[in-house]
Amino acid sequence: MLLAEARDACDTDSMIPPSSPVPNAYTGSPLDRASERRRDAEWLAACRHDDASRFVPMWRGKVMLRGQGGAPVAALLSGAEAQACREAERWALLGLQDGVAVFAADLGPEHEVAPLPELGRFEDLRTVVAGLDAGEAAILAHARGLMVWRGRTLFCAGCGAPTAPQEGGTMLACTRCGTHHFPRTDPAVIMLVTHRDRALLGHAQRFANTAMYSTLAGFVEPGESLEEAVAREVFEEAGVRVARARYHSSQPWPFPSSIMLGFYAEASDEAIRVDGEELTDARWFTRAQVRDRASGGFDIPPPDSIARRLIDDWVAAGESKVEALPQTPPKASLWKPILK
Ligand SMILES: [Zn+2]
Repeated sequence: MLLAEARDACDTDSMIPPSSPVPNAYTGSPLDRASERRRDAEWLAACRHDDASRFVPMWRGKVMLRGQGGAPVAALLSGAEAQACREAERWALLGLQDGVAVFAADLGPEHEVAPLPELGRFEDLRTVVAGLDAGEAAILAHARGLMVWRGRTLFCAGCGAPTAPQEGGTMLACTRCGTHHFPRTDPAVIMLVTHRDRALLGHAQRFANTAMYSTLAGFVEPGESLEEAVAREVFEEAGVRVARARYHSSQPWPFPSSIMLGFYAEASDEAIRVDGEELTDARWFTRAQVRDRASGGFDIPPPDSIARRLIDDWVAAGESKVEALPQTPPKASLWKPILK
């Protein structure tokens, strides 16, 4: 059987989409990361003083937007505007945009008041991403992830001595033992669990929105495959056994340092036992209930999240296949069970 046929067979069985054609938020950066230039100190110095170079200012984990109101536009400073960024102690090369160097610069947590108010305002990236250009959102996410890591890696985890930036600020070396410290990215799985025509959504105590129901998620542990992490997290949080899991897409999540790996997971049955710690409630929802959530009195995550993408793609897949499905006989699943 060809791969495409196999995929179609799976889709027909489960009515869940194989992957998303639409990019997730924080992806699609226009930058060439130019890793081969990071060790060229002379070139880096010239770029930092070049008026054409662009600087992405950060302050206390927040990103800078142009103006003091209105639609969000990322502040990419250049020329005289960028002087405070050139003087920043903590900076890093993000890459090249159309041959022009782009740097991130942390304007310093020591400032009680947001710096450069004449140039813009600092905001939490998550609160403005929905209105941002996708490429700008990806650049800001890149800058945030790198600068937050720099701010949290001031000392060597091995010997406790101060670290010093190398390779354009994208790597840190211990000043005593020489250990190299690279930016960390913590893998986390996020999964929409389905069973027949229903999907499992949970409510966690930590949700600011008390009506929010979302996909389950958790960090991958050492010595664990992604599929095993999916099955473990779902069972730990909701007591639901996962029979099989399939990758959907990923999303950088620099809050502070994750990448979200999106999966669809098929449950063996619908018995639920919430753990009461991560989740305080979990329920099975039909597509119609998700579509009509306003009258059901619950919310789902915002459109910029991979959680929402997983939910929306599942709802859309059901709608597009409901008419064709009765003519199609069920086919044997091609997925291997990951839990017996
Ligand atoms: Zn060290």
